[in-house]
Amino acid sequence: MDRNHVIIFDTTLRDGEQSPGATLNTDEKLEVARQLARLGVDVIEAGFPASSPGDLDAVQRISREIHGPTICALARCIRSDIDAAWQGVQEAARRRIHVFISTSDIQMEYQLRMTRDQVLARAREMVAHARSLCDDVEFSPMDASRSDREFLYAVLSAAIEEGATTLNIPDTVGYSVPGEFASLIRDIRTHTPGIEKATISVHCHNDLGMATANSLAAVLEGARQIECTINGLGERAGNAALEEIVMALYTRRDYFGVSSNVVTQELYPTSRMVSSFTGLSVQANKAVVGANAFSHESGIHQDGILKHRQTYEIMDAHMIGLTDSSLVLGKHSGRHAFADKLEQMGYHLEPEDLNRAFARFKELADRKKSITERDLEAIVSDEVFQPGEVYRLLQVQVSAGDKAIPTATVQLEGPDGRVITDAAHGTGPVDAVYKAINRIVQVPNELVEFSINAVTEGIDAVGEVTIRIEACVDDESTMPLNAQTERRKLLFSGHGANTDIIVASARAYMSALNKLIAVRGQAATVPPRAN
Ligand SMILES: [Zn+2]
Repeated sequence: MDRNHVIIFDTTLRDGEQSPGATLNTDEKLEVARQLARLGVDVIEAGFPASSPGDLDAVQRISREIHGPTICALARCIRSDIDAAWQGVQEAARRRIHVFISTSDIQMEYQLRMTRDQVLARAREMVAHARSLCDDVEFSPMDASRSDREFLYAVLSAAIEEGATTLNIPDTVGYSVPGEFASLIRDIRTHTPGIEKATISVHCHNDLGMATANSLAAVLEGARQIECTINGLGERAGNAALEEIVMALYTRRDYFGVSSNVVTQELYPTSRMVSSFTGLSVQANKAVVGANAFSHESGIHQDGILKHRQTYEIMDAHMIGLTDSSLVLGKHSGRHAFADKLEQMGYHLEPEDLNRAFARFKELADRKKSITERDLEAIVSDEVFQPGEVYRLLQVQVSAGDKAIPTATVQLEGPDGRVITDAAHGTGPVDAVYKAINRIVQVPNELVEFSINAVTEGIDAVGEVTIRIEACVDDESTMPLNAQTERRKLLFSGHGANTDIIVASARAYMSALNKLIAVRGQAATVPPRAN
């Protein structure tokens, strides 16, 4: 193994997908995985197969269809979890099983209700089981940063003895600070028998804004795998952001002396894709991929940049794949140019999807002079990457104005192909549209977030609407540790794009509703209303 190489382990599809509202369907996951392969990540953690049949299915499809990176699946230290993970990754050319168990006193006592001896024995037994199936086994002592040191060394050493090849040290609750986390890694290297046989990995959360800093501090102490996510998605405040890690290692290679396999030019396209699929937008001042990351407002800075770019810029925007995206295609661009451009941007569409996207492109080109990459992204995410449509929006029509009662009529195609029309009035046109849709679909939910953005500048810009709705669903988790079905509140995001913002709003709502309906497994239920 090259000591100067850092393995980039992407967990966007596992930890990242645990971000509230970030749920992705299998097609979206495949598309993200395909882009991650282009990006050049070494390992893709594709999911947690024991958590649901849908997750298992997604991991299996990624294992079959994505080539290049190692495909990894997560499992608790439970035999059936490990068997499900193996079922998930079995068909991948390169595959890994990742097993974890809590090692902090607080989690062992209150969550696992197991003693230290029991946890040690379980870890040993389950790493051995995973290794009997797969040559590449990663072990994580969950909540490592709050675990008793001596106990931690003992568990890690047992995992190595049973054949774990990567030892991942998670700062599960995002509690650590860089100096302290660095010394944890140093101590583990000094005190764990057999550690030289394994790769040390880190998995940091961003609760105190230190996920990237902690991960990089660990690299200086010899960690050679970093677990991270695109746009820093993940549980609560998220994980270490892949783009920050990669660009820090690259920009400060003089300091870190290590490199990764990541193709930096794919960072920006990947960030955009993940943001549009998850409905979680990237904050404007986000490091590396934020909208403002390369704009200079101060006159002094602008002056400096004009005279010599490096006066105020430590990275080149082209390095992360930010191209001058003003005019890319126009009214007269043909199908071939359109398909080529999408390929370049990382989208590989099925012929049928390509046809639909091309039709939308032509429609837009009639209304808008120049079509940019951002417009194309909006078309693709609006037209192609929508959840399986149980209900399909056929038509929406509103009347509104300062003296009018906002009224909307919508027409949907239901699950059995039936066309249903209904109308409602509301406090505004969007409210009226949503109420009319509710009258047809009848799935209780609450709108918790609504945002609208212009995709590009100009009055003819495409409007992109992102919404999040909250609803109660039966948790059909197959987790053996909490097998009872419970009702949980879940968030669903939806996105829609159109030059007409009312249409974009309706499409965004339909996309969130269809996700919700899929999770509730109510696809077959047709509301008893007649038209
Ligand atoms: Zn995590």
